[in-house]
Amino acid sequence: MALDLRRTAFLRSAAAPRDLPPDQGAEVAFAGRSNAGKSSALNAITGVHGLARASKTPGRTQLINLFEVAPDARLVDLPGYGYAAVPDAVRAGWHDMLEGYLGGRRSLRGFVLVMDIRHPLKDLDLELIDWARSRALPIHALLTKADKLSKAQADRAVREVADALGAGTGVTAFSATKGTGRDAARRAVLAWLAEG
Ligand code: GDP
Repeated sequence: MALDLRRTAFLRSAAAPRDLPPDQGAEVAFAGRSNAGKSSALNAITGVHGLARASKTPGRTQLINLFEVAPDARLVDLPGYGYAAVPDAVRAGWHDMLEGYLGGRRSLRGFVLVMDIRHPLKDLDLELIDWARSRALPIHALLTKADKLSKAQADRAVREVADALGAGTGVTAFSATKGTGRDAARRAVLAWLAEG
């Protein structure tokens, strides 16, 4: 049966790897700096309004939120990163949790890296890219807020990120408000989930 992203529903939050659902089926993880537009992207890609609630308290959401598209097909919303004001202990916790999740998750099929198209490839983004590469995990770069740039500027940003990431990595200019890139993002996510 074809997967329908519109059926996506909240499954659970996990504060630690032991809280995660059984590691079976397929998962696609979304990561990005706080405020990059990850929640808006998840809502737009699934078409489920309010699915991922955008927390407006910087650095407070240190939970992994899991959503179920269908049995054994999940979307995983990893905590945002990059807020300078976050205390070291919270940042260390973020690292531990991410490593705990990303390091051992066998059902993880792909990794959507959400970056503001005007500020891509910051340090922690690059760290995640390196990590994904070291595990041969495919990446799709979602360059959000493309509506803030002209088409020519957005095209240039896409080219620059594609050059930096190299062959085999999808790069999409995306706008949650305008719908730009939504179909491409859906296709990437569904292709990974369909790997089962
Ligand atoms: P998150 O912290 O990464 O989950 O980011 P949010 O989805 O909460 O978005 C952060 C801010 O960027 C909010 O004020 C959103 O309204 C805004 N935003 C998100 N996506 C877009 C977009 O595609 N275009 C524009 N113009 N603003 C966006």
